[in-house]
Amino acid sequence: MKEYGDFVSEADRMMIASLREYVRGEILPYRQQLDVDEDRVHVHRVLNGLAAMGLHKRGLPESLGGIRTGAVSFVAGYEEIARGDCGIALTLSVPAWVFGAAVRSRNERVLEDLCRPFCGDTFVEACLAMTEPEGGCNVESAEYRGKAIHTRAQLEGDHWVINGAKQFPSGAGVSDVYLIACTTDPELAEEGIALIYVPANTPGLSFGTPEDKMGMRYTDVNASVYLDDVRVPMEYRASMEPGKDAESFRNLLAWGRLSSAAFSVGVAQAALDIALDFTGQRHYGGKQVRQHTLQTAMLADMMIGVESARFYYLTVASMFDNRKVYGHHYSDEQLARASGAKVYASEMALKVCNMAMELTGSYGYMRDYHIEKYLRDVKIIQLWEGGAQLGRIDVARGRYPMVPYV
Ligand SMILES: Cc1cc2nc3c(=O)[nH]c(=O)nc-3n(C[C@H](O)[C@H](O)[C@H](O)COP(=O)(O)OP(=O)(O)OC[C@H]3O[C@@H](n4cnc5c(N)ncnc54)[C@H](O)[C@@H]3O)c2cc1C
Repeated sequence: MKEYGDFVSEADRMMIASLREYVRGEILPYRQQLDVDEDRVHVHRVLNGLAAMGLHKRGLPESLGGIRTGAVSFVAGYEEIARGDCGIALTLSVPAWVFGAAVRSRNERVLEDLCRPFCGDTFVEACLAMTEPEGGCNVESAEYRGKAIHTRAQLEGDHWVINGAKQFPSGAGVSDVYLIACTTDPELAEEGIALIYVPANTPGLSFGTPEDKMGMRYTDVNASVYLDDVRVPMEYRASMEPGKDAESFRNLLAWGRLSSAAFSVGVAQAALDIALDFTGQRHYGGKQVRQHTLQTAMLADMMIGVESARFYYLTVASMFDNRKVYGHHYSDEQLARASGAKVYASEMALKVCNMAMELTGSYGYMRDYHIEKYLRDVKIIQLWEGGAQLGRIDVARGRYPMVPYV
């Protein structure tokens, strides 16, 4: 595991070693089953196996049994899991993402009422619902300042009443807790942004049919979420402090994009390993495919892509771990760094999977060789969380002032 350089600690190396063993024994042999696992039997088995190693508690509050984890350690672990299956890595990462807002705001009521079961011995799913039928990028764009959020939360007595709809979020319909990005009033812009926790059994919360997707077919479940007069206690808003939920929202975006970079690198490394192995075993013109200059150059380009994307996300993660010098995760600069790492890594991973398929000929197109599944799974990482376009806008915005176009 020299590929992580000096970014990781000795404890991280041990964690990475056990994860590598788990991926080799419990994920890689079942990748095809995960792809057709409509009842999610293998998905749950794999997630619970990772939970038995304590992975699901990373980032959750220590007071409830969670494990405090630095950004480098957190995302390097997800690269390892994504080498096996990036949909599994995603689903495992969501609860820490969801409860991040309550942890930041020290919302003891939410943590006590809703987070405790997530720190148990088995894995429980959570969902962060931002995207709306009218658009996902507008909801996430700093330019819109929360004004494009249509899901409304109104305070009635000591309860929030939520009405609206969300589109595509991970874990929709199969989660125990939903974090809904709402607005109390679009005119209030950032101060109107409200992150509100909703338990799955709340009346008025319902779901559409699970989406039929190109990749991450059962490792992640995506569906529409409907909120019709959903009532939750006032304290289930992450923070009542003006503007604090807007900060937490950007914080979630920055973490999501950083993790997405690590997932992408895991996929690319796996595709590269398959291509290296295949081109070492197959021959033409009297030598291994990988000994021919044309293919050597392709493999070298793939390695350069994987390594540069890995060092990019690890560098950004180490900056996340040093807030004193590099600022809050929700700052324009940090969001720009995380967005750059995601844009670069997801596009690199797509290229690497494509090149791996070329190097393996038609074998790579067959399910048995796994590359087609890595390629199908990784495409959405480029598209989600604002996609490659908003990601680039956020990079530019973090580096120089941009004229608002709203
Ligand atoms: C497997 C999967 C998992 C997902 N997980 C989640 C999740 O956990 N939570 C969640 O909330 N959502 C989730 N999504 C939704 C996903 O994040 C959004 O679909 C994505 O952000 C794009 O939003 P959109 O589809 O509405 O496209 P649009 O926002 O309509 O974008 C369409 C095109 O226009 C461009 N565009 C539009 N507006 C802007 C803008 N303001 N700035 C720059 N470019 C713009 C986009 O780049 C894109 O090219 C998931 C989707 C999938 C398929």
